[in-house]
Amino acid sequence: MVRRGLEAHVLDRPVRSVEVRHPRPVRRHLPGPDDFVARLTGRTFTAARRRGKYLWLPLDDGNALLAHLGMSGQMLVQLPGTAEERNLRVRFDLGDRELRFVDQRMFGGLALAEGGAELPHEIAHIARDPLDPGFDDDGFVRRVRRSTSGIKRLLLNQSLVSGVGNIYADEALWLAGVHGERIGRQLRRTDVQRVLDACRTVMLAALGEGGTSFDALYVNVNGESGYFDRSLEAYGRVGLPCRRCGTPIRRVPFMNRSSFFCPTCQRAPRVPRPRAVPRG
Ligand SMILES: [Zn+2]
Repeated sequence: MVRRGLEAHVLDRPVRSVEVRHPRPVRRHLPGPDDFVARLTGRTFTAARRRGKYLWLPLDDGNALLAHLGMSGQMLVQLPGTAEERNLRVRFDLGDRELRFVDQRMFGGLALAEGGAELPHEIAHIARDPLDPGFDDDGFVRRVRRSTSGIKRLLLNQSLVSGVGNIYADEALWLAGVHGERIGRQLRRTDVQRVLDACRTVMLAALGEGGTSFDALYVNVNGESGYFDRSLEAYGRVGLPCRRCGTPIRRVPFMNRSSFFCPTCQRAPRVPRPRAVPRG
């Protein structure tokens, strides 16, 4: 969705000029901002692709523009003359369109990925997201079922699947009726597939609610901030009744954050009871 939208606006329009408004977003381009500008000027974007919080736009010379969205980064397409965003950092003039990198906190940034048109090596370790047509369901299920980690931790592991953050994971696990602490190795194939399908349902719902503007889509892509209270079933609903069974939603700590789940719909894994010491 994101990819299609972006592509429609940036393809086949040579980059007329590049304006770096702040050096920080291009800090990962080690030869510096001037080189960044020189290498992109005159090139044409041939596609727009996404993996996790990264976007990359292959160029007609085999390189690619790689964007890390960080916590607050957005790639926007605007008509020339559109009022500048407050945190506009880099602007690409494409003639009848502008591609703008907007980032308030500047944890993200842009770089030129050498030879990265097919897949920048910087992000080769990041798995596809479940909405990517190339996502390998069977491979994912196999890897999960070989793991001794909990399923929620696995959903947040970028080398297995990208695009699923803490909120989406809780929502998907609630939808699938699977407790996040259940160990991959102990899940049935159908359970893992159900969780994966639930991730897709949640992600599609979030995209749908975010509307169709680039702005909203990218906010969604980036950090899940576009996911709205009214559609959440588990996340943030501690103490409120589960919409499926009425049991109050519970919260437990999880990797410096929280996990929300329904203790009835999502049975916790059984913890082996300590054996009683036989009396002498
Ligand atoms: Zn429930």
